[in-house]
Amino acid sequence: MTKPRFGAIEAGGSKFLCASGTGPDDLSDVVRIPTTGPDQTLGKVIDHFRQIAGLAAVGVASFGPVEVDKASPQWGSILATPKPGWSYCDIAGRLSKALAVPVGFDTDVNGAVLAEQRWGAAMGSNTAAYVTVGTGIGGGFILRGETLHGARHPEVGHIVPRRHPRDPAFPGTCPFHGDCLEGLASGRAIEARWGATLADLPPTHEAHEIVAWYLAQLVVAIEAFVAPDRLILGGGVMQTPGLHALVRTLTHDFAAGYFGVGATDVNYDDLIRAPGLAEQSGLLGAICLANDAWIKSASPLGPA
Ligand code: ZN
Repeated sequence: MTKPRFGAIEAGGSKFLCASGTGPDDLSDVVRIPTTGPDQTLGKVIDHFRQIAGLAAVGVASFGPVEVDKASPQWGSILATPKPGWSYCDIAGRLSKALAVPVGFDTDVNGAVLAEQRWGAAMGSNTAAYVTVGTGIGGGFILRGETLHGARHPEVGHIVPRRHPRDPAFPGTCPFHGDCLEGLASGRAIEARWGATLADLPPTHEAHEIVAWYLAQLVVAIEAFVAPDRLILGGGVMQTPGLHALVRTLTHDFAAGYFGVGATDVNYDDLIRAPGLAEQSGLLGAICLANDAWIKSASPLGPA
């Protein structure tokens, strides 16, 4: 039996990245399609994949909010979004109808954690988290081998952290909450507060410690809720030199020895990792989702 080949879509607010393949060593036909209106963008995506022969399934790792409840008639759709034209767009349905293959669908961050678990920094992990700190802040989870969804998908960027003593007045940039974590520590918040990216501010600038102080509170919250054996911090802001080390140190301080077993504290240097797949985690996550959809469609029990 020939190895199945999958289509991968990393669906973002500014671009759809498409590729085909089976994994990190086999990812080709990469194209970048601007996110304009759904008809135009998905039309180009469908045209692209129609030119690739023999695709067994397609996976979509999508920007949100999305419907991930398989029991919902809206599964695979974007939910209400300020992005013009995309509210309630049935991405998975349109793709499966046009391409006549099974379609896997999840959030971009759940895709990233799947890919990191299969090929990257969370290999061998049974419970893992992937947090991206970029323009916004989001997180995906694998709990005991399955991606985590509740009635909706998690939105860890919107927890409300304790304010840093030297950062009492900044109102925050979240249009819903003001000074939630995303409103205080995302790339957008950093630029609004200090007029530069974190990497462009000198290492001695207090911004580094303030941002790390907020992010460490998210790490502690994730430790408190799901106790992962790997927690990957990725995204553009996390590429700032020294930021990983600061977050680890401050997580250790916030956790105050509570989460270990007996006298042994959690090793935060071991828990908190940089992504192993760099920029590829979105597309590779989509490959994982396609693979899962293909396996489920081929099951004698029928599609899940
Ligand atoms: Zn918020």
